[in-house]
Amino acid sequence: MGQYKTEAILLVVRDWDDNSRMVTLFSRDFGKISAVAYGARRPRNQMAGTIQPFVQADLSLLPGKTYDSIRQCEIVSSFRDIREDLTKMAYANFLAELVIELWPEREAEPAVFELLLGALTMMKTRNPRITALAGALQLLTLAGFSPSMTECATCGEALILPAAFEVAAGGAVCLHCAQSGANEFSCEAAAFCSRLLGLDWQNPGSFSVTGAVLMQTEKILSEFITYCLDKKLKSLAFIAAIS
Ligand SMILES: [Zn+2]
Repeated sequence: MGQYKTEAILLVVRDWDDNSRMVTLFSRDFGKISAVAYGARRPRNQMAGTIQPFVQADLSLLPGKTYDSIRQCEIVSSFRDIREDLTKMAYANFLAELVIELWPEREAEPAVFELLLGALTMMKTRNPRITALAGALQLLTLAGFSPSMTECATCGEALILPAAFEVAAGGAVCLHCAQSGANEFSCEAAAFCSRLLGLDWQNPGSFSVTGAVLMQTEKILSEFITYCLDKKLKSLAFIAAIS
C-alpha cells in the first residue's frame, strides 16, 4: 500500500527522538494507529505546530515496517480550548486513554471517531466531568462492556430503585442480591446514567444534576472501568490528584 489519507483525531503525542514525535491517533477509516511524525520537533517543520493532542486533522500517511509515518497534517479543528485548560485536558485524556485501552490497532470503528469528535466539541464549552461521563458510558457500550442498569446484574429481575452497584456483578444489583459494602445506586444516579447513555452529541441539551449524584456516578463508573480493564487508568489517578 502506498501513501494513504484519512481524517483522524490525535490522542497521545510524545517525543520519539530529538527530531520526531510518536502519535497515537484514532482515524475515521482505520481506527487506532501508532505513527511517527518525522521532523515534527524541528521548529521550522511544517508539522511543528500541528502535531498536538486532540487536534482533528486530515492526514497523509506512509506505511512503514514498524510504524507508519505522518507525511502531512492539515488541521480541521485545533481544539486549542481543551489544551489550554488543565481540567478539560485531564478529562479529554481520560477519554483518549479509554479508547486506546478498549480498541486494538487498525480496527475500523467510525462510531468511536464520531463519539470522540462529539465529546471534544462538547468539552470545549460544557462541563468536562459530565462530558467525560457520557463519553465513557457510550464508549463502554460500543465496546460491549456496558454496565447493567435496568435489570439486576445478579438475578436478572427488573431493577427496583434505589438499588446497589457492584462492579464484579457487572452493574446495578437489587437490594436482595447486594453484598454488604456495595455502592449505592440511587434513583437520581440511575436517571442521570440513562440521560448520559442517550446523550445526543449534536444536541446535548441542559443538565440538572447535584454534586452528590455526579460524584456517586463518577465513583461507580471509574470502579467499573478499572474492573473491566483490570488496570487503573493513569488519567483517572491524575484527575483524582487535581480535584
Ligand atoms: Zn437481584
